[in-house]
Amino acid sequence: MARYIGPVCRLCRREGEKLYLKGDKCASKSCTFNKRGYAPGQHGSAKKKMSEYGLQLREKQKAKRIYGVLETQFRNYFKKADKMPGITGENLLIMLEKRLDNVVYRLGFARSRAEARQVVRHNHIKVNGKKVNIPSYIVKTGDVIEVKREDEPIQRFKDIVEVTSSRIVPEWLNSDYANYKGTVLSEPQRSQIDSPVNETLIVELYSK
Ligand code: SF4
Repeated sequence: MARYIGPVCRLCRREGEKLYLKGDKCASKSCTFNKRGYAPGQHGSAKKKMSEYGLQLREKQKAKRIYGVLETQFRNYFKKADKMPGITGENLLIMLEKRLDNVVYRLGFARSRAEARQVVRHNHIKVNGKKVNIPSYIVKTGDVIEVKREDEPIQRFKDIVEVTSSRIVPEWLNSDYANYKGTVLSEPQRSQIDSPVNETLIVELYSK
């Protein structure tokens, strides 16, 4: 599966806000956005008024970047969300939240979604006792997600949990840091998703 391999902080600068794509660095003083909080490129610091289309496009790009999803896959999520009962924009965000890589990140077993994707791909995660190495796997209520380990979790996860255990885990998940395990308690509700995305703008963009 293709993925973005360019400079990550540039994406925050392009969207004009911190997207927290790099884990520890994002909360530190060395965050690039704190130093250069304007768009990249020669005219990046010039103030521009954005058209309606521009706003919708940027919102879609922001959502893709936060969840680490490329265009085709994102559009497929939208098509599925559109066919589901309920509000399309909310369905879209809920589907993105239920991706296994996002759940691993939300549970605190990775410092960023990029790291979560890597630990899933590298076979460190089990769902209901079975190895799952597909980051786009959609979890469901009752699923138990755990870090694969023989006797003790590898040092990497000890280091991660030391940093992430102070984070607030969303209400629809439960994280058991002592056992490196988490449970999906319920379907996420829009009000429980703290992503800074205005999904209505994305729906407007794709409905043109
Ligand atoms: Fe964005 Fe994090 Fe880079 Fe700051 S450190 S610009 S929040 S990715």
